[in-house]
Amino acid sequence: MGSGPSILALKGVSYRWSGRGSFALDVPAFSIATSERVLLLGESGSGKSTLLSLICGTITPHAGSVLLSGTDIASLSAGKRDRFRAEHIGLIFQQFNLLPYATVLDNILLSLRFAPQRRARVAHPQQTAQKLCMDLGLPKDTLTAQAGTLSVGQQQRVAAARALIGAPPLIIADEPTSALDAATQATFLDLLFEQTRNAGSTLLMVSHDARLAPQFDRVVQMADIARTAQAAA
Ligand code: ADP
Ligand code: MG
Repeated sequence: MGSGPSILALKGVSYRWSGRGSFALDVPAFSIATSERVLLLGESGSGKSTLLSLICGTITPHAGSVLLSGTDIASLSAGKRDRFRAEHIGLIFQQFNLLPYATVLDNILLSLRFAPQRRARVAHPQQTAQKLCMDLGLPKDTLTAQAGTLSVGQQQRVAAARALIGAPPLIIADEPTSALDAATQATFLDLLFEQTRNAGSTLLMVSHDARLAPQFDRVVQMADIARTAQAAA
């Protein structure tokens, strides 16, 4: 457990996917302190992405509360929840979810479109996007490139820039390095840590790769915070 105030606190959360298999996840208590860098480890299928979806409010728990910066996102209407997520969370997925035909700049600025407070922290969006790209080791002319034309490693850096712009309080990364080779993986993580620190953001990353553990403030095993069950299909 971190020492400072919690940015994120889950209590008595339970969720069950409907349909075939009906995977169920219960998280009695899980919290993260402000500015902590937490690695959540668990095997494939252990419910890591489901937990992140609950934290992001893309799915809502059948019971319990998910407090993010003091607001129970489960209690918000769908529209409010979308806006709250846009303001408070920078997301990096395993598959980067960039718009392949849009430019890198448009992909990055998309994060600010529905987040006026986050947008207000960025006085000069284009320059800020450019600086983030440079700091993340992307070539100078990247901003005008079509996202889909970049290499996998470069696209992942763009996804990081998109998550980081406007300094959202919480950065969530779902197995962000699994598509990268070992060298790119290490560089990417170094840059992500540095940028997260610069932004004063908290980082929650999930992975099945225990080798990443030494680089984090705290490592949490899914098995220690969650009970799961899968009905026979
Ligand atoms: P992890 O990210 O640890 O690999 P997931 O949270 O993606 O685990 O998946 C855990 C289980 O939840 C899966 O085995 C599956 O049964 C179920 N699940 C995940 N996503 C869905 C979905 N969209 N619809 C129905 N079941 C799902
Ligand atoms: Mg997953």
